[in-house]
Amino acid sequence: MVRANTRNYTSELPRINVKQLKTLIINHVQYDITSGNKKITVGVKGDNIAYQLPNDKIVIGRIDKTALSYGWRYWFICPHCHSRRSTLFFTNKNIACRDCFNLHYASQSENQLDRLRRKIVKARYTLFKGKNREYHNLFNHAYYFPKPKGMSRKRFAMEQNKLINMESIYWDHARVYVDKICGKVER
Ligand SMILES: [Zn+2]
Repeated sequence: MVRANTRNYTSELPRINVKQLKTLIINHVQYDITSGNKKITVGVKGDNIAYQLPNDKIVIGRIDKTALSYGWRYWFICPHCHSRRSTLFFTNKNIACRDCFNLHYASQSENQLDRLRRKIVKARYTLFKGKNREYHNLFNHAYYFPKPKGMSRKRFAMEQNKLINMESIYWDHARVYVDKICGKVER
């Protein structure tokens, strides 16, 4: 089923920031950072950084620094897209920048939406019978198609209701997705 939480994907993920990175570099230690009840262990050696994720998987990445008039500004390099970042986000089994996580979640909800769409089309074929390309177009509401011959009104109404519920779930989630594509959802 499509999850309701498709907005602001990374806002609740545990994270680490450059301030913590700087402490780590200055003290030359490996240490644990807890964020959102999840613990990540981080160690730095030269330009290399190792993250031990909550599931104990180790991801090796890099850090970068740029010169300021007084000292250095440090950056994480995202292990996936290799961009310079001041914050990285993590889950039990992955660590990445905001954009990589958003892309990941967006494609997940896109897949879930697509699965639901296919399920609806299949249910339409089962209920309305026959071959009809119009069944594939979800802009055609479930009311649009007539009751097949030989099916009782009661049974038809019941099956049609199930379909309408599924379609309204689809549109609730599709709308969020369309808003995101049109840039209406704050990121
Ligand atoms: Zn990234």
